[in-house]
Amino acid sequence: MAKRLDGETAIVTGAGRGIGRAIAKELAATGANIVVNYNVSDEGARTLAKEIEELGVKALVVKADVADYDQVGEMVKETLETFGQIDILVNNAGITRDKTLKNMTRQQWDEVIHVNLGSVFNCTRHVIPHMLSRKSGRIVNISSFVAQGGNIGQANYAATKAGIIGFTKSVALEVSRHGITVNAICPGFTETDMLWEVPENIRQRILEKIPMGRFGTTEEIAILVRYIIAEGDYMTAQTISISGGVYI
Ligand code: NAP
Repeated sequence: MAKRLDGETAIVTGAGRGIGRAIAKELAATGANIVVNYNVSDEGARTLAKEIEELGVKALVVKADVADYDQVGEMVKETLETFGQIDILVNNAGITRDKTLKNMTRQQWDEVIHVNLGSVFNCTRHVIPHMLSRKSGRIVNISSFVAQGGNIGQANYAATKAGIIGFTKSVALEVSRHGITVNAICPGFTETDMLWEVPENIRQRILEKIPMGRFGTTEEIAILVRYIIAEGDYMTAQTISISGGVYI
């Protein structure tokens, strides 16, 4: 029988839309109370919280820029004051600032590094003492297939997503003996705002390269995350692809 997450607390970063939203709903449907983190999508976060509560669990909406260490600290503090425990952390928030390297500004480099990779440090660093003290925890980091193959115009993004894989493996080595698993997943092209920002002609070319002939859905990604969290008791330090067969 599928395992449930009743009474557990999950922080999902960037949950107001896209993949994060689907992950939050999937974990809520499995019984977890959800911290709905967002930065600018306040409407999305509020409507998600309503949908989550209709599933019979609790939602705490927290605005925090996960690139900011202190704001993440406040979010973790508020989570512990509200729910008393943190069982699950999904580091999902991410951005793109695509440019070929010769046109990439230092600011575009820094923004992507701080949001995509800095946030993973910030959130994990703030929750790990609590998880260690309870000898229990599940951390899933959202990397990308771009980490493995690179991509034109995404040197900044690819560097962060590859960095997440190294971070995941290293932290897993440190904490797995203490009941905490840390894994990364590498989605392929998935139907979200991030994909719709790609020009139509490039999207068509991308589609032709996907062995399954279609983009992934956010729900498909969420199901894998739920599986790792609820069922993956002996799974740690892994990088799992879910990409319709794409490996660039
Ligand atoms: P999306 O639709 O563009 O959503 C991005 C999410 O990240 C939003 O919820 C956004 O929240 C949040 N976010 C961005 N900056 C933030 C910040 N400073 N603090 C807190 N939250 C922040 O993108 P998505 O496709 O769902 O992407 C989710 C994750 O999957 C990302 O890590 C992305 O790199 C990864 N991924 C996506 C694809 C794909 O094809 N879509 C493929 C592989 C990997 P706000 O709106 O509130 O700012």
